[in-house]
Amino acid sequence: MTNLLLRNVRPYGGANSDLLIRDGRIDGVGRFEPAPDMPVEDGGGAIAIPGLIDAHTHLDKTTWGMPWHENNRRAVLRERIDFERENRIAIGIDPHRQSMRHAIGLAAHGATHIRSHVDIDPVHGLSIVDGVMETREKLKGVIDIEIVAFPQSGVMVMPGTAELLDEALRQGCEVLGGIDPCGIDRDPKGQLDILFALAVKHQKPIDIHLHEAGDLGAFTMELMFERIRANGMQGKVAISHAFALGMNDYLRVGQLIEQIAELDVAILTTGAPSATVPSIMRLKQAGVRVGAGCDGIRDTWGPWGQPDMLDRAKVVGMKNGLRSDHELEHVLNIVSQGGADVMRIEGYGLAEGCNADLTLLAGETLAHAVVEVAPRPLVVKGGRVIARGGQAVVDMP
Ligand SMILES: [Zn+2]
Repeated sequence: MTNLLLRNVRPYGGANSDLLIRDGRIDGVGRFEPAPDMPVEDGGGAIAIPGLIDAHTHLDKTTWGMPWHENNRRAVLRERIDFERENRIAIGIDPHRQSMRHAIGLAAHGATHIRSHVDIDPVHGLSIVDGVMETREKLKGVIDIEIVAFPQSGVMVMPGTAELLDEALRQGCEVLGGIDPCGIDRDPKGQLDILFALAVKHQKPIDIHLHEAGDLGAFTMELMFERIRANGMQGKVAISHAFALGMNDYLRVGQLIEQIAELDVAILTTGAPSATVPSIMRLKQAGVRVGAGCDGIRDTWGPWGQPDMLDRAKVVGMKNGLRSDHELEHVLNIVSQGGADVMRIEGYGLAEGCNADLTLLAGETLAHAVVEVAPRPLVVKGGRVIARGGQAVVDMP
């Protein structure tokens, strides 16, 4: 049942109209009378926007729905990684069950697409990826999930990982991940040469976690730019976090952003409150594709986060010091259209012919909806209602 007449909504906060949906696509925006036996929903005058997009998360890590995970460990990156790898199964973090909970939570809050990094290491092989792939299959028609083969524990310091990444790409992971080639691997040339060779071999894009701050992160970015040029990978590389772009050196950051724009590198931000983050307004000015994500939520790394991209828009907005309405509209754009631009989602939007993937926001204006983390009365995926009043229509395991 993918026909629907959605009446009384305000696309992007504009004039009140109806959305006519046929065969999972938006067939018209205006005023319509329902055809016989066409389902009708009343949007109650809510704002309609295309589905929210979590373009950087970790579906395989959350403890959501499990007993509270007590954590009094040190906040040291390498120690967090090692603790999680060695203890996740014993703690009960089943990758399939937990990724179902996380993804359904996102859908209930208006998301229609996810890019999830999923851990690959020699201890677990591809078993964690298998669990998330099962979730992707089960949630077809509810939410689209793209999987990044992610070497969380490192590549060069974890022998056997490169071969597993190769196999994961063969088995259908859409994107190749990477992590701090200097900070984690102590061997930037080693990791980056392997990643770019694998990406070229499988013709897949790269999305690398770069927590490296300041000049170290800038150095890694420059090594990436060289390899993007050498391999013709313009438009096919994303940098997640990119904390180096938040460094306190305006000119240096400007030089980096210039190359990022020139090479059409995408940036994914989580607005991490504890780190220096890229300025989304500065990236907008430079014409850089920018998406956002919730990152890990309530996992062994830390207790914060919600499976809710509007909540994340608020975090990103506050971290970026945004105040004006047009800035708040831009942060909402980043958690929707921006993610679609990064993930190259076809048919995204509310125009005639677009996929009927959308969410309603019960706010006065787009800016108001962001600061309020407005309720989402209805979420539609492919013309089908998949959540109502914050509750998904699929059962939470
Ligand atoms: Zn991450």
